[in-house]
Parts: sequence; structure tokens; C-alpha cells
Amino acid sequence: MIPNSAGVVLNATRIPPLKRLVKVGLGIVFLSAASSLLNLQSQNQGGVSVIWLSNGFMMGILLCAPRKHWPTLIMLGGLIDFFVNLGLTTPVGVSAYFSICNMVEVFIGSSLMARSIATSPDLTDPRQLRSFLLYGVLLGPFLASLLSVIGLQHWLGTPFLHAFQFWFAADVLGVATITPLYLAFHHRRKFSPRSTFETVGLYVLLIAVSLFVFDYAKTPLVWVVLLFLILLGARVGLAGSALGLLLVAFIGGSSTVIGHGPLVFAIKGQLSEKILMFQVFIGTTMLALYLTEVAMAKSAKMRLGLETSETRFRLLAEASRDVIVLAGLTGERKYVSPAATELLGWSQEEMLGKDYVSITHPDDLAKFSKLLNDCREGHETAALSYRCKKKDGGYLWLESNIRLFCDSETGDAAGFVYILRDISERKIAEDKLQDAFHTVEQLAMVDGLTGVANRRLMDQTLNREWMRAIRDGTSLSLLLIDVDYFKLYNDLYGHLAGDACLQAIATSIQGRLRRPPDLLARFGGEEFVIILPNTPLAGAEIMSRMVLSSVEACAIPHSGSPYGSVTVSLGCATMTATLDGSVTDLLKAADDAMYRAKVNGRNQMQTSDGALALS
Ligand code: GH3
Ligand code: MG
Ligand code: MG
Repeated sequence: MIPNSAGVVLNATRIPPLKRLVKVGLGIVFLSAASSLLNLQSQNQGGVSVIWLSNGFMMGILLCAPRKHWPTLIMLGGLIDFFVNLGLTTPVGVSAYFSICNMVEVFIGSSLMARSIATSPDLTDPRQLRSFLLYGVLLGPFLASLLSVIGLQHWLGTPFLHAFQFWFAADVLGVATITPLYLAFHHRRKFSPRSTFETVGLYVLLIAVSLFVFDYAKTPLVWVVLLFLILLGARVGLAGSALGLLLVAFIGGSSTVIGHGPLVFAIKGQLSEKILMFQVFIGTTMLALYLTEVAMAKSAKMRLGLETSETRFRLLAEASRDVIVLAGLTGERKYVSPAATELLGWSQEEMLGKDYVSITHPDDLAKFSKLLNDCREGHETAALSYRCKKKDGGYLWLESNIRLFCDSETGDAAGFVYILRDISERKIAEDKLQDAFHTVEQLAMVDGLTGVANRRLMDQTLNREWMRAIRDGTSLSLLLIDVDYFKLYNDLYGHLAGDACLQAIATSIQGRLRRPPDLLARFGGEEFVIILPNTPLAGAEIMSRMVLSSVEACAIPHSGSPYGSVTVSLGCATMTATLDGSVTDLLKAADDAMYRAKVNGRNQMQTSDGALALS
């Protein structure tokens, strides 16, 4: 809060900075003087104003200032405008009236524009440009010209329509050229010449060409001027072409009002009509420049958008640890992310343009091709684990997720996106797990003491072989082996010696088995079983003899046995398996036979039919 000279406390925030107030003062004085220069020149020839600049400048000031500063700025602008008018020998009342008209134009144009023009205005944005043209360039000047010309008619008796069209045209041109120029200079980045030398050169050329076209040339060469304006627009932006057009307006305007230039020659009639034609030329040129700028800004924005998204996606692909591959429909690679070189060792050149066949493990090739085919046919596909060849010759386990992608314009399938991930560590862990599982599975099937198959494996094998025997129509033999006087053996030599005895017997019998399907299993305690698939009774008897002799060969002393060493008794059963029978029948038959061997004096084999006894 600061006190003013009268001691009244003013709200300081409503007062614009001194710099802006000075800017308003100097700008209005300078631009009104410049406009009046043209006006004065034409005064002798009808007082027609070619271009009125200060209103456009005030609109620029307001659009860049906070709303709360507007009243002060408008009052100051109006006051200075009044003094300028007064200086131009306009009577006091008329001067005040014209100033009010100008400020009405400025206020209406700015407040309507401010609704859609951003705080950092950009007239190459179609929405903002539309608002500027509609409210700033047309509506504001239209209302102000209407009011002004009513005043002119009242005080000076000027014909209404005649005065209106020139007044309106002058205001339109002033706003159309000065406002964008002010906005661009206010937000400096909008006025961005690429090279000062080039920019100055273009302006010098424009001035020279304008002087030539409007002062000396006797032929209508105005389009040459247009060429330089478009060049300025392309190189310096909208503000550049607006400044250029302002120069053209001054050069061409002053030439036209003093009766020079192509329009004076080309158009018959009064000077005022020629000036009007010049104003139309400036207005349409400005519009053409705006539209060109909008189109250029739009394509620049699109290019920038494309570049940004391209950069973003490239960054994603290149920063990813996963390999990203874009391939054509036949599998030839079009893009491979750098992670591929890190993982596999192949350079980009070695990978691009080639397909998957040469670097896919031969055993995985078929499933990889199938996956691509499934994708091509539009099926949902799951991730595939496969081996990919590295440059050093080894293979790396990868998991690939493959998707088909379509052309964004035609919608037709255009190729594949692969996302490949190194799963070698996972594979090693899986293999270890598999090995551990096998070990556990083995352990679950092996008898801990003797190392031969346990009861579980025996049951599984017996059932499986029983079914196979039914299918093949073959006979299945089973030997049940029981160590004789084993309780006594334990009692005499101790339990550990008993264990060792069982181990020796099992190893010895196991050594006699020759055919892979034959299986020795510990049935329980000191009893063993031998399963002999596809073996008739005669074969089983031979095997029984071998068992008896192998145990005898062990020659394990047993002082409690009448034989002096450890012996076994065998029950041998052979059956042709049928669906009616079961493994239990076979076991029972062998058990019965074994019982007879025991009863018969041990250390012998009995068959299930009880016919044969060996000792
Ligand atoms: P038989 O000649 O009638 O077969 O008499 P046996 O003493 O061998 O038969 P019995 O069934 O009375 O005794 C079997 C013994 O085998 C009883 C048990 O202590 C012993 N035994 C069973 N399993 C083991 C083992 O794993 N280790 C040891 N050391 N002894 C065992
Ligand atoms: Mg027993
Ligand atoms: Mg026994």
C-alpha cells in the first residue's frame, strides 16, 4: 500500500509497474505520430488514414498485463491518446471523443480475446488466432469506427460510409500488424531469428524491394513483396512477417498517398479508392501470412510430437534389459534393441535383415516356427522358452513373447514384435530342481539298508508287469526269498551283523540278475522278492538255483544253522496273467511255496505247484 500525493492510500497491486506505464506512454506517442505521418501526408489529398497503430499496441499491452492493471492502463492510454489528438490540431472535445472511441476498441477487443488467448499468447494456435481475428481485428475496430465516424459526421460533416470504410480499414490493419508484433516481442522466444545476418539481410531486401515496387516500378509487382514476407515468416516467425508487413505498409502507404506505386497506376478513380485498395492488399496479405504460419506451426508441432514419441519409445527399447525385436512377416529382423548385442554378442549389422532360423537351436526350431504361424493366424500365444545361438557358439535360454502388429493405416498384419528375456539362470535353477526331484524320487524307491528296490517300487513294478503280461499273453514269475534262522543269527551275532548279512545277501543276489526288466526288491525284514517278467517256470527255477548258490557262495558263518552258514528258502510261482487273477494271487502262491520250503528243511526252493524241491 502506498499513499498518493493527496495522502489517499491506494491499493499498490492495481498500479502497473512504472516500466509498463512508461512503455504505454512512449508507445502511444510514437505509434500515433507514425500513423499520423501517413495521415498528414494524405491530409492534403482527403485526410485518409492508411493505418492506425496505437490501438493494436494497447491491445498487446493489455493482453500481457494482469486484469487488475487494465483500468489504470486504459486511463493512461486514453489520456496520452487525447494529448496526441490534441497535438494533431483536433479540437479538445473531438480529441477526447476519439480517445474514448480508441479505448472502447482496445477494451472490447482485449476483454473478449482474453477469454480464449493464453497468458502466453500464441497466434499460430488456430483457436487463439480465430479469437484475435474475430474480436481484436474485426469487432473492436468495427465498434470503434462506428462511434468515431458518428462523431466525425456530427462535427465535420464527413460522409458516413466513406469515412467508415477508411477508419475501419486503418484500425484493422493497425491491430492486425502491431498486436502480434507486440506479443512476440513481449514473449521473446516467439521472435526467434535463426541468424541475425540472414534476418537483417531479408529486411533490407524487403525494404529495397518495397521501395522499388511502390515508388519506382511502373508495373504492378506487389507479389514480389509477398515472396519476401513469406520468407520472413518462415525464417523469423509470425512476428517477423508482421514487422515486415508494417514496413511495407509504411513504404507502400506513404507512396500510395502521394500518388506513387502500382495501385495508383492500376486503379482508376480517386486517390481514396487507391488507398483503400492498398489497405485491402495489406489486410489480405496479413491474413495469408497468418494462415501460412498456422499451417507451418501445425506441421512443426506434429513433427515435434513425432520426434518426441520416437525418442521416448527408442529410449524405452534401448534402456530395456529385455531384447526387443521388430520383424517382418517372414521373420526378417528390422529393428533389434542393443540388449541383444549384450546378451548374444551379435552386432546390429549381423542381426538385421536375417531371420530366426540360423540362430535358433535345431531342437527348438519347429516350436518357434509354430509359434510364429499361430501368431500369424491370429491365435493367442503363450511365452516360449527356446535356445538362441550366441556369437561364441554357445546357446542361451530365452523366453520369447511374440505379438503380431498391424499397419496403422491399412490395418493389415505388418510384422512381429518379439520381447526376449534371458532365462538361463532360471533354467539352471529348474534343472537343479529337476535333478533334486529325481534324487528324491530315487530315494523313495530304494531300500535304505540294502540299496535294492524297496517295497513301493516292488508293488509298482509288479502291478505294471502284471498288466503287461496280460497284454502280451506272457507268463510272470516271482521268487520269494526268506533268510533262514535269521532271528537266531541276530541273537548270536548282533543286529548290526544281521544288517551286514542282509546287505551281503542282497548284493550277491543282485549280481546274478542279468535281464534289465528283472527286479530284486526287499519285501520286508529278511525277505526279498525277485520279479521275473516274461519268464516261464523253467527260467524261474534256473534263477532260483542261482540265488541259492549265490547265497551259499557268500559263506556267511551261522553257528545256529544246521548248515553252518547263512542260507535262504525260496518260494517260486509262475502265472499266466489274466484279468481274473491278480498280483496278490501270485504273491500268495510264492508265499505258500516258500512255506513248504521252510517246512521241508529250509535252504531250498519250492514251486507253487509243489512239484519241485531243490536243495
Ligand atoms: P525262519 O527260518 O523260519 O525264517 O526263521 P527266522 O528267525 O528267520 O524268522 P523270524 O520271522 O522268526 O525272524 C525274522 C527276524 O529277522 C526277526 C527280525 O529281528 C529280523 N530282522 C528283520 N528285519 C531286520 C533287519 O533289518 N535287520 C536285522 N538285523 N534283523 C532283521
Ligand atoms: Mg521271515
Ligand atoms: Mg527267516
